[in-house]
Amino acid sequence: MLEVNGVTVQYGQAVKACVDVSFTLARGEILGVVGESGSGKSTLITAITRLQRPPARTMAGQVIHHPRDGEPVDLVRLSERELRRYRWTSLSIVLQSAMDALNPLMRLGEQFADVLKAHGRPLERIPELLRMVGVSPDRVRAYPHELSGGMRQRASIALALACEPDLIVMDEPTTAVDVVMQRVILQHIVRLRRELGFAVIFVTHDLPLLLELADRIAVMYAGRIVEIGDAAGIGDVPQHPYTRGLRDAFPPLRVANKRLLGIPGSPPDLRNPPAGCAFHPRCAVRLAVCDQVEPLLKDRDGRLTACHLNGADQ
Ligand code: SF4
Repeated sequence: MLEVNGVTVQYGQAVKACVDVSFTLARGEILGVVGESGSGKSTLITAITRLQRPPARTMAGQVIHHPRDGEPVDLVRLSERELRRYRWTSLSIVLQSAMDALNPLMRLGEQFADVLKAHGRPLERIPELLRMVGVSPDRVRAYPHELSGGMRQRASIALALACEPDLIVMDEPTTAVDVVMQRVILQHIVRLRRELGFAVIFVTHDLPLLLELADRIAVMYAGRIVEIGDAAGIGDVPQHPYTRGLRDAFPPLRVANKRLLGIPGSPPDLRNPPAGCAFHPRCAVRLAVCDQVEPLLKDRDGRLTACHLNGADQ
């Protein structure tokens, strides 16, 4: 239902925060996008949702949505007016902090009514939408500050569902809540996706969370996808050294006293990225070619990985 083709986003004159990113998303699929801060995840989703602000600019690429009925639409080329019709009904977003998404001066019910009225949907849906995410419909008269963090986040998910979009982009929606609420929210997402059939792009720095939630995972580093494939395969045998580093940076639940390895160093300064593979200054298994030639995404066992260790580029 979504084709992202060669999306490149630049900040100002020189900083490429997202370079030639391509992937597809099937109807009802959950794609996880993972990477450290500064890897380009948020830049990518603001390009897809057209929420980017100057100095960020999409320099190249297409984001093609195939609606259930009607012709494909390239979101990059929609006018602001066309986008207004498109948002909420075909594509909606859940932000990291529900306080950023909800208007602090409006009661919850008014915020739902705003969205539903703007798109000609019946207001009678509001109690049902709140119930879907486990929030009591009694809370329609509450202001956001009167709700707990978890309740606000669930309400913003219900708001994203209000006009039954095909795709919901979730930008670290569980980072601001505790682990118990994180689990509750993930269970709601999985159940609602099954019942309503929307697709999800779920952005996070938390690879173990994605291994439980996502169907496929795209790993980003320095603005590029360095590995993309089935979540199960990436969890069992990560091919890219960066993906292995992300996995080994989290404590496993089932192995006692495992030493956490982490990834040495920091993500590169994108004003002056390293030559060759951008990960080479941090890579423990780099080859002589790695600081000279940029590895391309190549298929290995049904997974795309950009690493010279694949042998394809040597
Ligand atoms: Fe490491 Fe080289 Fe692979 Fe980059 S291309 S991840 S430096 S082995």
